[in-house]
Amino acid sequence: MSSSPVSTPPPRSTPGTVSADVPILVVGGGPAGSVAALLLARQGWQVELVDRDFFPRPKACGECINPAGVLLLEELGLLKEVLASRPSELSGWDLSTATGRLAHGFFAQGDRGIGIRRESLDHALILAAEREGVAIREGVSLVEVEPGNERRPARVTLRRKGTRGIEYRSARFLLGADGLQSRVARSLGLVRRHSAPGKASLTWRIEGEGPPRDRGRLILAQGLTVGLAPVDGGGDQSWNATLVVSHPATTPSLRDGGWNQAMEVMNRAQIPWIKAPEPSQGPWGAGGFHRSVSRVAEGRAVLIGDAAGYYDPLTGQGIYRALRAGHSLARHFSAHIPTPGSPHLSAADPNILESFHHSLTRATRPGTFLQRAIEGVTRHRRLRQAALTGLRVTPGLTSSLIRLTGNRPTTLLAP
Ligand SMILES: Cc1cc2nc3c(=O)[nH]c(=O)nc-3n(C[C@H](O)[C@H](O)[C@H](O)COP(=O)(O)OP(=O)(O)OC[C@H]3O[C@@H](n4cnc5c(N)ncnc54)[C@H](O)[C@@H]3O)c2cc1C
Repeated sequence: MSSSPVSTPPPRSTPGTVSADVPILVVGGGPAGSVAALLLARQGWQVELVDRDFFPRPKACGECINPAGVLLLEELGLLKEVLASRPSELSGWDLSTATGRLAHGFFAQGDRGIGIRRESLDHALILAAEREGVAIREGVSLVEVEPGNERRPARVTLRRKGTRGIEYRSARFLLGADGLQSRVARSLGLVRRHSAPGKASLTWRIEGEGPPRDRGRLILAQGLTVGLAPVDGGGDQSWNATLVVSHPATTPSLRDGGWNQAMEVMNRAQIPWIKAPEPSQGPWGAGGFHRSVSRVAEGRAVLIGDAAGYYDPLTGQGIYRALRAGHSLARHFSAHIPTPGSPHLSAADPNILESFHHSLTRATRPGTFLQRAIEGVTRHRRLRQAALTGLRVTPGLTSSLIRLTGNRPTTLLAP
């Protein structure tokens, strides 16, 4: 992948106008950043994307794209590239307690989820963005942001991995798509302080045979959850196993004892392994979750994806929400900026981001409410068991829930 040198091109101002070095600078090449960059480049914008990592790279994640995410990738013409790595197709999820009580949920007919390694997904999207003309710069970290205003561009301080050299860059629009611990959000002072401790997680790639490979499994135990999903199609035996722990007090011992904990929960839940699986990659850690921001737009900077707030990995909606945010931002730009591409500042630019803030906040509210409700129920042992019993004995209820978390319309009781 190309990686241009750390340098600052000469400013392109013409008399009477103020210009930035680049019209759009995207920080972060996960699903939110790469899809936003790609769609904006398709509209004619000159886009530069920096990421502190080099692709392909792993990412702590359950690695399942829900049906709405799959449909969106198809709509954007990106599904073929994503499927090239031969990911697993998922027809639904099984939910169980640690004692093995099972409820089966199925996506609607014609819908499917995908279990895919993040190395493959994110690399496919970043290559697609590069093909659309986005300048991708890997190994470049954002250090600090000034958001700019009607008259001044956003300014960022960047550092290339392994060097002490600092680069300053200015942008007409700055997209912060730098994930859960967003430096852009922190640098802008937009992260809300929470008193409640968040969760922490460990993710492994494991090899094993036995469980059905067309479905994921979520095991809800006291204070922890284990997610298991196939991540390769075509006869491979790789799985993503993710352990999420509710109390960070246990985090220090997590890295050493985490795999044993995850295995114990899987054994109690009677996952039908033919032979005990072994981790082949990882673990990759993440946390704490439950992070929110006071606003997603400030001056000429806007946050999308996890950077704009994240609640809980439990419902597996993050990738869809990240793709959707990138898509919504690009649509918002095409609706409000008649002649894309220019690095010249317009005094109206911050208002455009402000109105995006309002529409994104409205659009994500129901999903966040659903996540909070599910998290509230699963946190308490009795409620969790009662809910699972309800799901098991009411035909169609588990499928309705699975379709809801798959961001697909559902009736109260799915057929
Ligand atoms: C344990 C766990 C399990 C999950 N399981 C699922 C699941 O099964 N399904 C699902 O849909 N979602 C899941 N999620 C959520 C999902 O991973 C995220 O919502 C999704 O990756 C968000 O995409 P993004 O583009 O916003 O950020 P990310 O994918 O995090 O990408 C951010 C990018 O920014 C880069 N970056 C960070 N800081 C800087 C910096 N300072 N300078 C430059 N670059 C920077 C990073 O290198 C990274 O490439 C899970 C999350 C966790 C933690």
